[in-house]
Amino acid sequence: MMIYADNAATTKMSRAAIDAMLPCMERDFGNPSSLYSIGQRAKELLEQARADVAAVIGAAPREILFTSGGSEADNQALRSAAELGRRSGKTHIISTAFEHHAVLHTLKRLEKEGFEVTLLDVHEDGLVRPEELQAALREDTCLVTVMFANNEIGTVQPIRELGAICRAHGVLFHTDAVQAMGHLPIDVQADNIDLLSASAHKFHGPKGVGFLYARKGVPLTNLIEGGAQERGRRAGTENVPAIVGMAAALKESAANMQANAERMTKLRDRLIRGIGEIPHAALNGDAARRLPGNVNFCFEGIEGESLLLLLDDRGISASSGSACTSGSLDPSHVLLAIGRVHDVAHGSLRLSIGEDTTEEEADYIIQNVKEAVEYLRSFSPVWRDLMSGKSSFIL
Ligand SMILES: *Cc1c(COP(=O)(O)O)cnc(C)c1O
Repeated sequence: MMIYADNAATTKMSRAAIDAMLPCMERDFGNPSSLYSIGQRAKELLEQARADVAAVIGAAPREILFTSGGSEADNQALRSAAELGRRSGKTHIISTAFEHHAVLHTLKRLEKEGFEVTLLDVHEDGLVRPEELQAALREDTCLVTVMFANNEIGTVQPIRELGAICRAHGVLFHTDAVQAMGHLPIDVQADNIDLLSASAHKFHGPKGVGFLYARKGVPLTNLIEGGAQERGRRAGTENVPAIVGMAAALKESAANMQANAERMTKLRDRLIRGIGEIPHAALNGDAARRLPGNVNFCFEGIEGESLLLLLDDRGISASSGSACTSGSLDPSHVLLAIGRVHDVAHGSLRLSIGEDTTEEEADYIIQNVKEAVEYLRSFSPVWRDLMSGKSSFIL
């Protein structure tokens, strides 16, 4: 059996996305800035995609800026809000410790440039408390940036309430909605969002394309200078096939969102129940306020990396919070932010199921995770010490 359970890392492109893209490459390949008809046809496709994307989140087409993905959108959103703040002497930014690195590393850079950053506690359940945002706001706060749903533990923030607090204080509110887009209902008006980032490859669109929503009247700072594309806010010839593919994928995801969410939530909870039977294991993040497809556990006495490799041998693609593969021995900053200690954070497993995951596949995953954890513990020195009472269990 081959089971792809790493949809939080990337998703397979949908048939709708591929079908929408092919004519853009084969026939409608013109440059949208060209005045002759083949260029104008590309321009039409581009603007239709913009209108389609805007409609899904309740925005106006002019408020959508196409980017190379979620990272670029995050960078541009934060830079723009910071620039705007600096002009009026406001240099305080509020965020959380478990944001994506596209946000955290941009914040680090802004700190070097003189901004002050307050990180809100995300607590053991992986959720920000609105009253703590309220308390952290200052006269000189220019931006609040809190992700819609976390990419590792899947927790979904009270975005509407956080946005309302920002709105009441006249502070710009950005949300990295990369994990939520296409999976959860998002309405930038009702949710009080000023800036929002999204990425196509997390909702069955192509890689290397995404968008930034910027509420009308919020001026953007360019990251890329050059031509006047995207109304002068991002230079470079538009990636029309990718943008069209993104719009097709998003329209489809939005149309099937509720049915998919219901089915996936059932499977998610089945996985959580099954894997939760393993002794000395703990679910990471709130059990209910999480993405329909996200399951994330810590297991005591094992390394997440070894678990991944064993699961891969059995045809299951999953992910671990520990970052050993990326050349660092640091455990996931997300798991540390919710209070997991280093040893426990190293033994983590993220399963992010897709719209097409079946009950049979979920049961296969449960069975194999159980066997793999037991096997790894059978020769783990850490586990031996725990069992002999030399060290004590945390989970
Ligand atoms: C994947 C991801 C990003 C980065 O998006 P790219 O399109 O890969 O640059 C940013 N934020 C979150 C929460 C993500 O999951």
